[in-house]
Amino acid sequence: MSLQVQGLVKHFDGVKAVNGVTFTVEPGECVALIGPNGAGKSTTFACIAGQHPLTAGQVLWNGERIEALRPAQRLQRGIARTFQVAQTFEALTVLQNVQLLTQIPRGLAAYNLLDSCDSGQARALLEQVGLHHLADAQAQGLPYGGKKRLELAMALAGHDTGLLLLDEPAAGLAAEERAQLMELVKSLTQRQAGRAGMAVLYTEHNMDAVFGVADRVLVLIDGVIAAQGTPDEVASDPAVRQRYLGQWWEKPLHA
Ligand code: ADP
Ligand code: MG
Repeated sequence: MSLQVQGLVKHFDGVKAVNGVTFTVEPGECVALIGPNGAGKSTTFACIAGQHPLTAGQVLWNGERIEALRPAQRLQRGIARTFQVAQTFEALTVLQNVQLLTQIPRGLAAYNLLDSCDSGQARALLEQVGLHHLADAQAQGLPYGGKKRLELAMALAGHDTGLLLLDEPAAGLAAEERAQLMELVKSLTQRQAGRAGMAVLYTEHNMDAVFGVADRVLVLIDGVIAAQGTPDEVASDPAVRQRYLGQWWEKPLHA
């Protein structure tokens, strides 16, 4: 169940957003895709999740070519994503947001049954992301960090999620909350009772959320992978320091 991205190219008219990117993510592995603004992180992501057609290249999941599949078809194969800006249903409660996803096999009719259908799976997911005490609160009233957690629970509610794609999971959060959320992301990579670990790929634009979280880091600059390795390896790479981190950059203290 690995993700293989081979020679991914995505151009928007004259803009060469992604220019030949190749990498893999294995189950149980948490991989960070980092790089400056405009490097092509979100575009790479959207190509894997199915929001953009590729200009060239291949995306394989579990050995199957998926680049021509619609997002819903990718979801059926266990590929779930979250967005840079959290996307939740504001008028529903926290629990109903997750139930909407757990009840998808019942179709749109599920919308009218949210309060009468079994909520066990949805509650377990809320417990996993630390939101169970807010199950009955309206999503609209959640602080932003809560919405990011809710979005994670919704992504996990899909059919047997094996690949989790997170576009800046901690964007917009203060340092402490960001560290807590990244801790949760890391734990999700392994802790899936009764099934193999998930493959997690997340984008980030600073190294804070990488040390202590990512097993491996891909550094994307100008649409190509400029370096890859462990967080320590990429942080000490002279080219990465020169082109992205800055000469005076220092490893975060907690790492
Ligand atoms: P990142 O997520 O690393 O900040 P993006 O993938 O959002 O970078 O953007 C990479 C480049 O592609 C940027 O130059 C951006 O302006 C351009 N781009 C992204 N999406 C589109 C689009 N839908 N249409 C045209 N250009 C785009
Ligand atoms: Mg982005």
